[in-house]
Amino acid sequence: MGVFTLEKKCGVTQARAGLLKTRHGEIRTPIFMPVGTQATVKALTPEELEAVGAQIILGNTYHLYLRPGTEVIDRFGGLHDFMHWQKPILTDSGGFQVFSLAQLSRISEEGYAFQSHLDGGSRHLLTPETSVEVQLALNSDILMCLDQCIAHPAGHEKAEAALALTTRWARRSKDAWQSRENHNLLFGIVQGGMYADLRTRSAAEIVDVGFPGYAVGGLSVGEPKELMYAMASHTLPLLPDHAPRYVMGVGTPADLVELTAMGADMFDCVMPTRNARNGQLFTHSGTININNAEHREAVGPIEEGCGCYTCRHYSRAYLRHLYQAREILAHRLNTIHNLHFYLNLVKNMRMAILDGTFERFRREFHARQQVAPAANRS
Ligand SMILES: [Zn+2]
Repeated sequence: MGVFTLEKKCGVTQARAGLLKTRHGEIRTPIFMPVGTQATVKALTPEELEAVGAQIILGNTYHLYLRPGTEVIDRFGGLHDFMHWQKPILTDSGGFQVFSLAQLSRISEEGYAFQSHLDGGSRHLLTPETSVEVQLALNSDILMCLDQCIAHPAGHEKAEAALALTTRWARRSKDAWQSRENHNLLFGIVQGGMYADLRTRSAAEIVDVGFPGYAVGGLSVGEPKELMYAMASHTLPLLPDHAPRYVMGVGTPADLVELTAMGADMFDCVMPTRNARNGQLFTHSGTININNAEHREAVGPIEEGCGCYTCRHYSRAYLRHLYQAREILAHRLNTIHNLHFYLNLVKNMRMAILDGTFERFRREFHARQQVAPAANRS
């Protein structure tokens, strides 16, 4: 154990700065993990990812298991050499994608029986053991336990049954992970739907099983923002201080600031990359849509003072032109800016926590997000 070093806690909020050791290097937290579903963070090379400050990326087990298949990635000794990325990688268990993408035919004590969404319905069984097996074949630095995801809204009884199954699967995942000699980390996932009592029970059970790190799952599944915050702020303090805490699948820049204030250390979300490809760009004074007519002749960058490659070299007028002409470069330049924005945000939060100025940083961040829309700037 001892993979996580807590460096500093904010005196006002629950925010923390830490160091997480993995086989492919140390991660400075809080950190955002760009999503690389198909063994690529869409539109960027690994060198470009490093340039925007990525320290760790996320891969999707479900997608990589179905295509190209673990036997292909195995020939490269794992995902790092296959995709030419030598920094840490976290993989999910595949459960969420089975739940959301595949034609799920059956969930049982054993696992998820499903049909592929790719090849007209080949049949597969995803169990806690096979999920660990596939993630070890990918040689992921951080593996996630298979859990049962539920849709929102879900009744108390259904959420309770899902959390109980998630705990039993967490034990099986841990056994499978321990039975194989490896130095990869396995994280447990807290479920419990939108019920505080179930979150308390799930956290106690998962912590009792015992993992090097913990995640809060089942958030940002369509519930109101206040409820997401309420569940996160209830659950995060129930997790051990000396282990990293990962809030899965969240969120906006403001969400990252709030969840960091609640004591979260790690985040992932498709928002910066997906929105970039749709022309939506993040700035400190809110988001802008590069397709809007007001950018037609705008000679300035997306955000004045932004140090990213895109803002150092290109105007909004040019980016709007690329977007309208459907040029591939639009995806690339927009993604560089958005990921830089997210990674710069977590880096600045970390510096503020270490400096003891996080609460001021947080106030100023929210105040700036609420100034006049970016559209009104020259
Ligand atoms: Zn920029």
